[in-house]
Amino acid sequence: MILADIHTHTSFSTDSDAAPEAMLASAVERGLTTYCITDHMDYLFPMDETAFLFDPKAYFSKMTALREEWSDRIDLRIGVELGLRDEPDVAGPVRDYYEKLLRDYPFDFVIGSTHCVCHTDPYYPDYWQTRIGTEGVLRYLEAELWNMEHYDGFHVCGHLDYILRYVPKNRRVHRSKLNDVIEAILQTLLRRGIGLEINSGSLRRNYPDFNPSAAIAARYYELGGRLITIGSDAHYAEHVAADFDRAEAMLTAIGFDSYATFRSGKPIFQKFSDR
Ligand SMILES: [Zn+2]
Ligand SMILES: [Zn+2]
Repeated sequence: MILADIHTHTSFSTDSDAAPEAMLASAVERGLTTYCITDHMDYLFPMDETAFLFDPKAYFSKMTALREEWSDRIDLRIGVELGLRDEPDVAGPVRDYYEKLLRDYPFDFVIGSTHCVCHTDPYYPDYWQTRIGTEGVLRYLEAELWNMEHYDGFHVCGHLDYILRYVPKNRRVHRSKLNDVIEAILQTLLRRGIGLEINSGSLRRNYPDFNPSAAIAARYYELGGRLITIGSDAHYAEHVAADFDRAEAMLTAIGFDSYATFRSGKPIFQKFSDR
């Protein structure tokens, strides 16, 4: 059984209203023993530069108190999801900002995610107005590859092929054209000791697979990758550990026998057979 959900959000994220206590109660109710809150930091977010930033001092003060209060029920870890950027005019300031944040605050777990590309968020239809399906996806994956090469301090690649959730229904994506860049991303993760996150949030957005897909998880395994983490990306209490039974079935069918959580930046491996 998967006993840890280590990619989740609370009202410290711009796109969630969930009280951290409600998320923790949901995690306990679902039988989890480890929980990590990873609120968004997307420095210089394109449409609104004040969005997706939290006050790290207030965050640590709240999370440290909760960790103590809930310690007899669940092991709370303090994490963050960083929005990485490859655009030349923002990459430098974004890197400096995150380096300082990670120096100043002792996060247990850091997810490196690619949300924005070409100064926009492909979640919005605008991104697709000037790009056909395959081209739009490729541009995103190339940015992700650059991000995996050029940032430090994060432990896993968040939701690797996340953009596939947002391809407009009327656009075709030629999957075979994505293989080379996906292979390069996986090789980069392995060479740099960065793990691969399996994110179940896609299944709640009318997308039929995890991010990344089972095929990509299988390729990572084939290349020798064993450092995986599992996250629901819940922004609401009812989504904590969502579809984790499916994630476990998918991962064990590939051959994975364990997944990782992080404490003080160090991985702790846990067997799927643990209860
Ligand atoms: Zn994300
Ligand atoms: Zn997230």
